[in-house]
Amino acid sequence: MSSHQPTLFGGSKRLVYDEAIELTLQSMQAYGPGHDHWVFAFSGGKDSTATLTVIMHLIDVGRLAAPRSITVLYADTRMELPPLSISAALLLDRLRVRGVRCDVVMAPLDKRFLVYMLGRGVPPPNNNTFRWCTRQIKVDPMTEALQQRIDELDGTILMITGVRQGESAIRDGRIEMSCGKDGAECGQGWYQQVLPEAKGIRGRIATLAPLLHWRVCNVFDWLKVYAPMAEYGGWETRAVVDAYGGDEAQEINARTGCNGCPLASRDLGLETVIRVPVWSHLSPLLRLKPLYRELRLPRHRLKKTGLVRPVVGSEWNEEAGEDLPVFGEPEIATAKNKQRMGPLTFEARLMALDRVLAIQAECNEAAIRLGCPTIDLLNAEEEARIRELIAAKTWPNGWEGDEPTADTPMDTVYADGSVQPIFL
Ligand code: SF4
Repeated sequence: MSSHQPTLFGGSKRLVYDEAIELTLQSMQAYGPGHDHWVFAFSGGKDSTATLTVIMHLIDVGRLAAPRSITVLYADTRMELPPLSISAALLLDRLRVRGVRCDVVMAPLDKRFLVYMLGRGVPPPNNNTFRWCTRQIKVDPMTEALQQRIDELDGTILMITGVRQGESAIRDGRIEMSCGKDGAECGQGWYQQVLPEAKGIRGRIATLAPLLHWRVCNVFDWLKVYAPMAEYGGWETRAVVDAYGGDEAQEINARTGCNGCPLASRDLGLETVIRVPVWSHLSPLLRLKPLYRELRLPRHRLKKTGLVRPVVGSEWNEEAGEDLPVFGEPEIATAKNKQRMGPLTFEARLMALDRVLAIQAECNEAAIRLGCPTIDLLNAEEEARIRELIAAKTWPNGWEGDEPTADTPMDTVYADGSVQPIFL
């Protein structure tokens, strides 16, 4: 697209697109008409926003025939980078006005990241054994919303995702499932692979990623230059570009995910956002990631003693509707084995709750002073629920709350089973 200016050609005033958009158009023309309804799994990220706006534009200028209905399902994790959540809300408002059905999809109250962690006491997710978040706050709510919407619709459905792999990945046949790769968005590969498997929807639904071949330069060309122009739809996509570093977005190519994602090595998404002057007042959000890291420390958690079964991983439990730990062979607990650490103490949860609220208050005081939109990390309902769960002495499955904290000194157990008692 960089090589083309938006040219209006001849009397027909036909817009000219680059190859990436032409290919998108061809794939939509090939697969779109075969489905009565189109449903967008929209995350608010750059790829997702480009997908939605480019396709709406192609419909508007008559290059693509509209289906019987269009639905946008916006996956709101409650953890989005503020410029993304703010521009997603604006985009949805605009689409609603023109009759597009737009639903905000959220995990149920008790399953949301902060409520699950601070109310129920489940420690922050980590890369090794316990990654409960992506599925719980992104994939499952979307799958459920999609199933509900499908039940309301008759006919066939094309689910359109913003999964984008660039050319080399397509050649290799890879679909990226992790959220740590450059430019990739946490959960996107899941949308592509898990959703079509969802119960009862096989056969009526197909999934299409019409921007799969786009490179990152195509995405930013569209969001930065073309989409905001009146002839390409006049979309308000500049805040999305800001979330990725504004003018430097393409070079930085930051991954985005939740504010303070505990799995990312650095909070690059947030660091990038606050370097853009209009968003610099969000810098208190940088304290979230260290808070999550701190919550994993032994002094904030309980542990099992005696003969225990170490956690060796986690897996989805259909009945419980959540990720549950997978246990290995029983072993004698030793002071050194960190895998046996369990949930967050009430003190730790209340400490973290106070800090999250303070971070939110700081951001919002500055936002109001500067006339910027406020953020919504934790709303009144979520805060009340966390306090209620703590007051009800809620612990994750398998924990009673009478276990010692994980920094309690313990006997040293040797390989031959002999025990060196501690002397206090
Ligand atoms: S971005 Fe991080 S915290 Fe958010 S769902 Fe993905 S892995 Fe979990």
